[in-house]
Amino acid sequence: MIYFDHNATTPVDERVLEAMLPFFSSYYGNASSLYKAGRLTRSAINTAREQIAALAGASATQIIFTSGGTEANALALHTNNPRTQLAISAIEHPSITESALKLKQQGCPLEIISVDPHGLVDENAIDALQIRAPAIVSIMLANNETGCIQAVAKYTDKLRAVGAIVHTDAVQALGKIPVDFKQLGVQRMSISSHKIYGPKGCGALIVDDDTLIEPFLVGGDQEKGLRAGTENVAAIVGFGKAAELALAELSSRSEKLLALRLKLEAALVEIPNLTIFAQHQTRLPNTVQFGIAGIDGEMLLMQLDQKNIAVSSGSACASEGGQPSPVLTAMGIETTLAKSAIRVSLGKQNTETEIYQFITTLKALFLKTNLR
Ligand code: PLP
Repeated sequence: MIYFDHNATTPVDERVLEAMLPFFSSYYGNASSLYKAGRLTRSAINTAREQIAALAGASATQIIFTSGGTEANALALHTNNPRTQLAISAIEHPSITESALKLKQQGCPLEIISVDPHGLVDENAIDALQIRAPAIVSIMLANNETGCIQAVAKYTDKLRAVGAIVHTDAVQALGKIPVDFKQLGVQRMSISSHKIYGPKGCGALIVDDDTLIEPFLVGGDQEKGLRAGTENVAAIVGFGKAAELALAELSSRSEKLLALRLKLEAALVEIPNLTIFAQHQTRLPNTVQFGIAGIDGEMLLMQLDQKNIAVSSGSACASEGGQPSPVLTAMGIETTLAKSAIRVSLGKQNTETEIYQFITTLKALFLKTNLR
């Protein structure tokens, strides 16, 4: 299989798997237990905390482990105070959008920050926000569909100055570009293990002031009582190892990915009527999303699948619906073009040969009338 859907998930790196295995049946102590077996797993969790903090430019004490990016995003926004004002960008992952909509139903005022046709958050829309504390503003660092990178650091000072808690969803950015929690100046940041060659079902919310976090999972002292529940030690160890490797290999991975992406894009632009979304923006080195006017993206995806090529037609969660991607809609992309969208997200094991195989297959399918 040619796997071009690394923004949906990545395979677990063998070195990560190796680090995890002893924590299933040899080192199985509950990290809350006071005896030796418990202290051992507690120490493994703390090592993972250090490894992840190093990759994310944070302190180990700022990390709250969660079941993934979705839970980290939900925790970042969660509040029991219906007076909390929320503002999120129009291109957030559904785990932000739907959490915010749920809070809106509970009374929290919600504003949507628009983006321009290139997928960038509109600075004027940020300046126009009428923020009054308590408020939480969420702007993602890199978009899962277009790969577009937002200038989050540019907005944090002014948002914090008016009393907002600033959150960024860095799930797609981590491990692909340098991510520095402190330099970004945000107070909360979500990350996820399975996007960086770690196991699924593990992530973290990084917070600068945990006294402001309102937990929704209670009944245990884990994660300082901010996220109760016995830790998934093997997954946390795997996330830590994946973070260590991502930090050590960050520049070599991203250089390789960018070179592949540029080769892919050079071939794509030769295809008539093909549009690369957010083409001229700074994007993740591994991500390109494109549309071919008049073609049905879902159908193209299925036909590529028959040729053993895995791509996405948008975000993994949106790929089952018949609606155009809300991200592309927010960018003002016309519906038929948005419905033709295909996302290719490359990974560290992809090769130039795979790029050319993909292009050859795409061109052959494109010539078939049944896609139109
Ligand atoms: N945020 C973004 C930008 C994502 O792309 C994803 C997953 O696709 C998530 C959050 C959710 O992360 P997880 O799959 O770990 O719940």
